[in-house]
Amino acid sequence: MERVRSLSEELKLSVLSRSLAEHLDEHDSLKELRTHFIIPKISQLPNVDLSLVDGSADCVYFAGNSLGLQPKNTQKYIEEELEKWATIPWAWAEENLEEMMAKIVGAKPEEVALMNGLTVNLHLLMLSFYKPTTKRHKILLEDKAFPSDHYAIESQIRLQGLEVSSSMLIIKPRKGEETIRLEDLLSLIEQEGESIALVMLSGVHYYTGQLFNIKEISRAAQNKGCFVGFDCAHAVGNAELRLHDWNVDFACWCSYKGLVVWQEPSYMKDTLTLLDLQMDLQPGVNGFRLSNQPILLVCSLQASLEIFNQTSMTELRRKSVMLTGYLEFLIHHYFSSSDSGEPLVTIITPSDPEQRGCQLSLKFSRPIRAVVQELERRGFVCDMREPDVLRVAPVPLYNTFTDVHHFIADLRSVLTPGSDKP
Ligand SMILES: *Cc1c(COP(=O)(O)O)cnc(C)c1O
Repeated sequence: MERVRSLSEELKLSVLSRSLAEHLDEHDSLKELRTHFIIPKISQLPNVDLSLVDGSADCVYFAGNSLGLQPKNTQKYIEEELEKWATIPWAWAEENLEEMMAKIVGAKPEEVALMNGLTVNLHLLMLSFYKPTTKRHKILLEDKAFPSDHYAIESQIRLQGLEVSSSMLIIKPRKGEETIRLEDLLSLIEQEGESIALVMLSGVHYYTGQLFNIKEISRAAQNKGCFVGFDCAHAVGNAELRLHDWNVDFACWCSYKGLVVWQEPSYMKDTLTLLDLQMDLQPGVNGFRLSNQPILLVCSLQASLEIFNQTSMTELRRKSVMLTGYLEFLIHHYFSSSDSGEPLVTIITPSDPEQRGCQLSLKFSRPIRAVVQELERRGFVCDMREPDVLRVAPVPLYNTFTDVHHFIADLRSVLTPGSDKP
């Protein structure tokens, strides 16, 4: 936010003004990337009230943490494959997407395999990396982990004939806090490390948007002799990852709910025993591959990776920190107090940019469903999560500072009607 603030002084434009947002967009070196996505018109969305908004305008899409917008080339690549299938004997040559994917997560291409769905991969990886002994049998995970991750971990514990109540170790935020402190995580690993077989956390927590310090956690866990794995579903393409340098034992992620990938440092090879069949056939990470890659998913992934490949994670992250900082600033400015003294909007995501990606998780002083409904009527796509969080994720690939400004203006008209006129 410092850069936004100093620019506003330089240009003599109020930080609150729409003109500043427009200036930031005009001078955004990544602005061209937006043109590679299909942006729905407001009239195409469900639940829109066309008496409040111009249906022919682009919607404001803030759900990039989840599905994300469709790249324009996705359909083209899928159609090309269908065309090939229709006209020539079908010989599917695998595209080499690992290299592009590896760049995004800071791994080497030979450490990445594209395969399966996320939970399938998580199970496969835990089959190899979770080797409990009488003394070392616990899996450490975070409170309110993504439900399917939580269940997968429970199943793996049961599969080993162990009790979930004694082998599942959950770290929670302190009382009255929403996110987990790194110091608490590290001291738990220090205290319990000898009984922990596997530390299995998310990179970015899907609900709170907290970005964990993967490097520090991996080091602490490995010092204690634990394996450490991360579900990077919400971190990939969002935070700058250095999975190779950070030496994580494994990670998996998804390009939305489709093809998934994982990484394996080469020093692990000797300890992988469960998938020996594939290991014999293929050394390294490809030994984990069970099936051919689903071709239509590869097409979608290719379209997306090509856009990422036009820039770098460093550039994307630089814009992302500014964009999310700007959103945070405006929320604090307009919604941190009310007549009753209670904030209208509370951000539960950490305010330190190092501890978050693009997403802010918001709580409201009034029932969230009514707020979401009003935002939908105005053409915003956000993502509500039970019980009471709205996830707002401006992504650097296609969101603009004007999107953020527009969102705040409309949120003001929803939460403080009457005060939104200049
Ligand atoms: C979607 C998601 C999963 C589950 O992915 P599947 O492909 O359905 O297995 C797991 N963890 C996180 C954080 C997710 O967002």
